Amino acid sequence: MSHSPENIVVVGGGVAGLATALRLAPLPVTLVVASPLGNDAATGWAQGGIAAALGADDRPDLHAIDTLSAGAGLSQPLVARRVAGAAPGAIDWLVGLGTPFDRNPNGSLALGLEAAHSRRRIVHAQGDGTGRVVLETLTRAARACPSIHVMEGWRAEELLADAQGRIAGLAARDREGRTVTLAARAVVLATGGLGGLYGATTNPLGAVGSGLALAARAGAVLRDMEFVQFHPTAMAVGADPMPLATEALRGEGAKLFNGRGERFMTEVPGQELAPRDVVARAIFAQIAAGESVVLDARMKDIERRFPGVVALCRANGLDPARAPIPVRPAAHYHMGGVRVDGSGRSSLAGLWACGEVASTGLHGANRLASNSLLEALAYAQWIATDIAGEECRVGPARAAGPPGPRSPARTEIRALMDRQVGVVRDADGLEAAAQRLGTLADRDGDALSLVALAITEAALRRCESRGGHFRADYPAPAAVARHSETRFGEAPGVAPSVEAIDTRQVA
Ligand SMILES: Cc1cc2nc3c(=O)[nH]c(=O)nc-3n(C[C@H](O)[C@H](O)[C@H](O)COP(=O)(O)OP(=O)(O)OC[C@H]3O[C@@H](n4cnc5c(N)ncnc54)[C@H](O)[C@@H]3O)c2cc1C
Repeated sequence: MSHSPENIVVVGGGVAGLATALRLAPLPVTLVVASPLGNDAATGWAQGGIAAALGADDRPDLHAIDTLSAGAGLSQPLVARRVAGAAPGAIDWLVGLGTPFDRNPNGSLALGLEAAHSRRRIVHAQGDGTGRVVLETLTRAARACPSIHVMEGWRAEELLADAQGRIAGLAARDREGRTVTLAARAVVLATGGLGGLYGATTNPLGAVGSGLALAARAGAVLRDMEFVQFHPTAMAVGADPMPLATEALRGEGAKLFNGRGERFMTEVPGQELAPRDVVARAIFAQIAAGESVVLDARMKDIERRFPGVVALCRANGLDPARAPIPVRPAAHYHMGGVRVDGSGRSSLAGLWACGEVASTGLHGANRLASNSLLEALAYAQWIATDIAGEECRVGPARAAGPPGPRSPARTEIRALMDRQVGVVRDADGLEAAAQRLGTLADRDGDALSLVALAITEAALRRCESRGGHFRADYPAPAAVARHSETRFGEAPGVAPSVEAIDTRQVA
């Protein structure tokens, strides 16, 4: 089966894929989603909400300033201002689709506060159920949209290019395991993050950077791959993936203790509300010293304010109203990704990327909480406008890179990433990891080893600590902030080239 080359293929059924497909209407879109729509997308698990400068005391430029300071020198000011400026419109769009956001008694949107935001600006739904509510709304709208053709249980496996090298479609595996070719005038990757590469993660286990591998094999430039955000308080209750104890709990007064009952954050500036990477490293240091760590969230009203967290605890045999929650850091969000411009275009003609798989320049070295759903919503619109305005020109397609087999070394890779490419890194660990991952990538050529290798090589070459990337052997930031860009050659196992790029070279 092959679709008309007028077709646009969007890969992924989270906020990025659904919003892009809806914004493209009435242009025909084939939405390729590996899982049943509404499942296995990080979007559905978002607890905090969506950041937007809507309060009387707030302005988009204040939101942009907070974004830039979290980004530790690598967020691009123009991008931060543009995305913050688009946030109120993105919320309006979701309201127009029927999203039931939480409201104040006077009908205005209720705005929450999160760490590192200087104003109350977190729009949320059903308390900590924002992601689920947004995903349900978008899924309903996409199912009702006549121009969107949903292929559920289909996995994109390979990008196809025309004779000029323009991406002209993709090969996917359908539910019966058959390979299907879809011709397309444009392909939008919206495949989410890569936390599943780590043994300790809050992400769906299918989030292993498969879109990054597709793009990398086709020759696209990846940017800032080493920047992985570790959430400090994933619940250490033996579940894989780990349920999240949202940051908002600490915002409402929950405190961290070690196994000896000591509040080890009291000496750290900001204490429990210090930036995510600082809290994650403090917890990691306790665990490395043999301590356990708990989050004491026994507060009045926890059932009403955090029903999602309470339900996750109960499902794991814990009652957070009576006992502290065991926690540890876990891979949570990938700031790096497929390098895209202001229209979401990758370095390859015909290929766009949206959401967590993309590196837009918004998050820099560290993402500000609740900015990722927003980024996907903003870029979905810009991508749709860009594709709609493009002349339709597609020739016959051939494989743009070798297909990716499944990963036989999944368990080994997850353990290695935790141990050597995790919260605290150093040259010895990274070199050993790169060597092993290079061998695995040569042997298996799969998405997991390829993407893990890209993170590791970029982390090895970044001889400084900045945002989510911490090197024990280079604990300070370098004087000049630089992006990294990663490219793979023809052979998938060959070590990728990683280049440092001056931030001033970025438009
Ligand atoms: C526990 C948790 C809490 C969070 N809380 C917040 C928050 O409060 N606010 C915020 O802004 N962000 C939050 N985030 C981050 C945010 O949820 C994600 O960054 C965002 O949802 C990513 O959206 P996405 O559409 O890019 O990817 P996803 O929502 O992960 O969707 C990816 C989709 O791609 C599909 N897919 C992947 N590979 C393929 C393939 N090869 N072929 C076909 N389909 C494929 C998947 O099946 C899935 O449908 C949170 C993340 C987690 C894990």
